[in-house]
Amino acid sequence: MFKTTIVLLIFSMTLAAQTPEDVFSKYDQYKESSISNRRFKHQDIEKLIKKFENTGKFKVKEEGKSILGKSIYSLEIGTGPVHILLWSQMHGDEATATMALMDLFHFFVADDEFNPIREQILSNATLYFIPMLNPDGAEIFTRRNALGVDLNRDALRLQSPEARILKNKRDETQADFGFNLHDQGRVYSVGYSPKQATISFLAPAFNYEQEINEVRASAMQVIGQLDRVLQNYIPGHVAKYSDEFEPRAFGDNITKWGTSLILIESGGYPQDRDKQFIRRMNFLSILSSFVFITNESYKRETLKGYEQLPFNDRLFFDLLITGMKINKGGIDYTIDLAVNQDEVDYNSHKDYYLQGKVEEVGDLSIFYGYETFDASGYQALPGKVYPKVLTAKKLATLDQLQLLKEGYLFLKVKGEMKAEEKPILNILSAKGEAPAMNFRIGNAANFVLSKEGKVEYVVINGFLVDLDSYEGGVYGGVFIK
Ligand SMILES: [Zn+2]
Repeated sequence: MFKTTIVLLIFSMTLAAQTPEDVFSKYDQYKESSISNRRFKHQDIEKLIKKFENTGKFKVKEEGKSILGKSIYSLEIGTGPVHILLWSQMHGDEATATMALMDLFHFFVADDEFNPIREQILSNATLYFIPMLNPDGAEIFTRRNALGVDLNRDALRLQSPEARILKNKRDETQADFGFNLHDQGRVYSVGYSPKQATISFLAPAFNYEQEINEVRASAMQVIGQLDRVLQNYIPGHVAKYSDEFEPRAFGDNITKWGTSLILIESGGYPQDRDKQFIRRMNFLSILSSFVFITNESYKRETLKGYEQLPFNDRLFFDLLITGMKINKGGIDYTIDLAVNQDEVDYNSHKDYYLQGKVEEVGDLSIFYGYETFDASGYQALPGKVYPKVLTAKKLATLDQLQLLKEGYLFLKVKGEMKAEEKPILNILSAKGEAPAMNFRIGNAANFVLSKEGKVEYVVINGFLVDLDSYEGGVYGGVFIK
């Protein structure tokens, strides 16, 4: 009797010792290293899915094809009675969670010290995954499918094959829980706080009244528990997505159809434009959900945790410059200026460069920046055009940093210039003229910041360059016709 108690005690201690956070501390051993850029394509993950199928641990099924004929697969693992359905990238340019799913697949096929936690999940639940529901959108890194339809507004009419695949899988599995995995812009903040909304959750409403039934409440309980985990890693960076009912959206309808639905939105985080850190937070969130659902600990949660989560707000810009002076007609005005650095695709949508554009001007004291600069005491002045027309060869010999210090932002170049020559300054054609300094919304932001007659900073295509500590990097290089 005594012996049995000890054995049981040790056994339960072993179980208690394994948490999703323990697994997460070994995340690097599960990370799929072949994808580290959100612009991966269907063929990249198809290869991986075949590899996971070959382990014999997943049942892989072609659920159908996209409009342009790409196979959409489901992966199934586990034997338990709780059915959990997850899908990612129904919006083609929202790829963060797809990467995390690949990492999770590695976790599930591994055989290591975390076998008890795997066993707990897989004996209590059956997991169904549909990674990259919208491969045609992913191919050109765009939100919508090849019809131009937003799949998340096609849950009722089901005109898109991709939407039908999701609906059929939901009905076939009668999923108890669903995970709708998206990305949101980097502009979102956690309420009015100066923290980016790195992960935003939602237990979608199933009617305009936003009522809470048992199905929705379960999703809220899991989210409340997840928030506590995430606060250890990204304190203050967890928010709640707008819970307005959208009758055509999947999340809302899937809740209505009886599946407790958890929406996860991967937003922004400092120094993480490619969302590789947020990918880790997805791994942790999803794995934690599996544990909380299968050990039923979520049932002990009140709804308070969910209710207290602040809603998303839109208070972030990539660059926020405050308090600079501009002069118009001999009069000085004090303004703040906000810039977002938009991604522009190239190399068949596999890479991108950034292009800064004016987003807002005026009193921006309620906003925050990924990068902020207090320009009090600085005067914004138009950049000058270097008077000589240069060849690309000649350009290579110029000290561009020195030119910036002299207030030049534009160079005229004769003949072709290759993008990889990466000029710091803006390049104009031989007959081109510099655009006037004009902070209209959508314009490129090019100006110098001068203090007591000395140019100390420049803003070039929306990037702030400190001329005293410039260490390289591309700031201009966008061709202006
Ligand atoms: Zn989305």
